[in-house]
Amino acid sequence: MEILVVLEHNNQTIHRMSWEAIAAGQSLGKDLDLSTAILIMGSDVSTLTEETATKDVDEVLIAEHPLLETYTADGYARTLAQVVESEQPTYVILGHTYMVRDFLPKVCAILKRPLLGDNISYHIKDSRPVFIKQIFMGKLLAEVLPQGNQPYLITFQSAAFQSDSVRRGTGAAIRNLSITLTNEIIKTRSEDPFLETTIDVDLSSADIIISVGRGIGKKENIHLVKELAEVMGAQIACSRPVVDAGWLPPYHQVGSSGQTVSPKLYFALGISGAIQHLVGMKGANNVIVINKDPNAPFFEIADYGTVGNILEIIPKLTEAIKKG
Ligand SMILES: Cc1cc2nc3c(=O)[nH]c(=O)nc-3n(C[C@H](O)[C@H](O)[C@H](O)COP(=O)(O)OP(=O)(O)OC[C@H]3O[C@@H](n4cnc5c(N)ncnc54)[C@H](O)[C@@H]3O)c2cc1C
Repeated sequence: MEILVVLEHNNQTIHRMSWEAIAAGQSLGKDLDLSTAILIMGSDVSTLTEETATKDVDEVLIAEHPLLETYTADGYARTLAQVVESEQPTYVILGHTYMVRDFLPKVCAILKRPLLGDNISYHIKDSRPVFIKQIFMGKLLAEVLPQGNQPYLITFQSAAFQSDSVRRGTGAAIRNLSITLTNEIIKTRSEDPFLETTIDVDLSSADIIISVGRGIGKKENIHLVKELAEVMGAQIACSRPVVDAGWLPPYHQVGSSGQTVSPKLYFALGISGAIQHLVGMKGANNVIVINKDPNAPFFEIADYGTVGNILEIIPKLTEAIKKG
């Protein structure tokens, strides 16, 4: 196998960005005519194996071990390093998730290979992939051509590929790998995950996001957005000034220093459209912008736009949706 996609999962659920990584692996495999495998690390991964083996990949590799029952950076890093050393893939592809950011640098250190992280796409030049990543807060794009010996360890930013573009296959081969792990190598153990972001704000998997900017004026007006979100079954997001002003908690922030989202529908209400905000939501399928300034940059990427006062429009929209 020449392309190895590493799966991230939690409680038998595959991370959305792992589906995107599989889409990236399939795309690269097709463009370069390379074989592709998915690696699953864990302690009881039979359900995940069944689910992934239906996809258009050559193999699903299983690295099961009791010490991988719960995630540890040491356990995952040692396991992936062993798999890479034994399988010798050319490209190792992962989603640029928090977990991957935690353990992948250890893998790079063990293998003495650099990390080509946080790419947004790639193109083929002279039969080789050139990876594209944003630099200077998204103001410039850099082209990165992997040099030196393989493997090349690559991560892709959220929404770089569409999870629903993963191709189904005719049944991938399943292969169990032998992994050596001992208690001594597990030096850190993670606490339980923070519950804060899972209580009522799960922006990463939201289909509809209503995002509000400084144009909302003051904290007392935020209830207008909450009412609209409620009737639409949407999650609430915001730009950074809204967080800085204390109008919404930080985990609602979208952008380069906030969350990256890829909903089906993104409402941008009273947000100017600064690049630091746009890099966090550019994966949205449809964008609706309401802003009183017809020259607001957000209109340039809007699918639909309305010039007007959100303080007047939001309550009317809420009422209209309520009436059905
Ligand atoms: C290092 C760094 C990191 C950053 N990270 C982020 C980030 O992660 N996320 C982020 O969002 N920003 C981030 N920023 C800030 C970013 O540069 C912008 O300042 C910010 O996105 C602007 O937010 P805004 O559009 O809500 O506010 P503004 O730029 O003040 O725009 C407000 C908009 O609302 C409109 N408006 C005003 N009143 C109304 C009304 N009544 N009805 C309709 N429209 C109205 C105005 O026309 C204007 O377009 C970062 C900046 C830096 C330097």
